[in-house]
Amino acid sequence: MKRVLTGLQPSGSLTIGNYVGAIKQMVKYQDEYESFLFVADMHAITVPQDPKELSKNIKNLIAIYLACGIDPKKNTIFIQSENLYHANVSWILECLTPYGELGRMTQFKDKSQKHQNFSAGLLTYPVLMASDILLYDADFVPTGQDQKQHVELARNIAERVNKKYGSVFKLPEPLIPEDGAKIMDLVDPTKKMSKSSENIKGTIFILDDEKTIRKKIASATTDSQMIVKFDLENKPGISNLINIYASFTGMSIKDIENKYKDTNYGIFKTEVADVVVNTLIPIQKRYNELINSKEIDEILDSGRDITMKIAKEKYILLKEKVGLHR
Ligand code: ATP
Ligand code: MG
Repeated sequence: MKRVLTGLQPSGSLTIGNYVGAIKQMVKYQDEYESFLFVADMHAITVPQDPKELSKNIKNLIAIYLACGIDPKKNTIFIQSENLYHANVSWILECLTPYGELGRMTQFKDKSQKHQNFSAGLLTYPVLMASDILLYDADFVPTGQDQKQHVELARNIAERVNKKYGSVFKLPEPLIPEDGAKIMDLVDPTKKMSKSSENIKGTIFILDDEKTIRKKIASATTDSQMIVKFDLENKPGISNLINIYASFTGMSIKDIENKYKDTNYGIFKTEVADVVVNTLIPIQKRYNELINSKEIDEILDSGRDITMKIAKEKYILLKEKVGLHR
């Protein structure tokens, strides 16, 4: 069975972008692949985090995964920082990665502008991500468009290591959802919706209550044309709402345009809110049942033990190849 692996950062409460781009995909893949799923907490600290918030987000994230339909029997679920091999392998790979290659990563360019005195970890983050992937010989990495470049980097690193030291790593491939939806910020639809975004008005969190969701969608930026038509360049706001509607219903963009061709933005927005609310309310109910249960700790303990065994073998192999042994 082919293996998939994906991680989410506990850098804030999860958004519908994470739901569409990552969690929903994993729910589908868990029946087709051997699935590994982890909380990328070491990635989160590449930018400043409040320790209390961070630790709260770690557990929340697992509860949300489960509430969204991730089945702990079909997935190995673990916390990145509890598996000591990720950082060790990352160090070796950092030393095999040219500095210039990392400076060219789009996400680094974006985030380094947002944070004054950004950390060195922000630059080397994609190498840690490469380790996350390569440690488990993942065939596929389900990811949104925004992370595609990082998976390609992981592949390049793997290729380089294999060429230099003989076969060590499997070459991973990104698995981009077919609908390809990248959910954008509701206020500034030219920006990706992100859980760490400063303007929470533009972000719908999976745990937002109904009133908040409806208010955020009702105030989403649109245009003055009043036609529900997909046009990313000229109508990024409406196109984003169409994408959200499509992602939450499975309807095609064409069908949505047809359905709403004689209505106005007000009606369309209300119905976008309806489909989002109808999906999120049952998830929130399950989340509330799970968040204080023992189940989460049991799942994480088991995930840590399983992945430590797998990762250890890969670490020892790499270490020896590089010459780090007696
Ligand atoms: P941060 O702002 O901290 O980077 P994020 O919301 O971008 O948070 P990540 O933890 O970086 O989330 O990414 C988790 C997963 O969610 C990745 O697979 C990513 O591709 C996907 N994802 C994140 N944002 C979106 C989005 N707006 N649309 C589609 N997929 C997304
Ligand atoms: Mg991100």
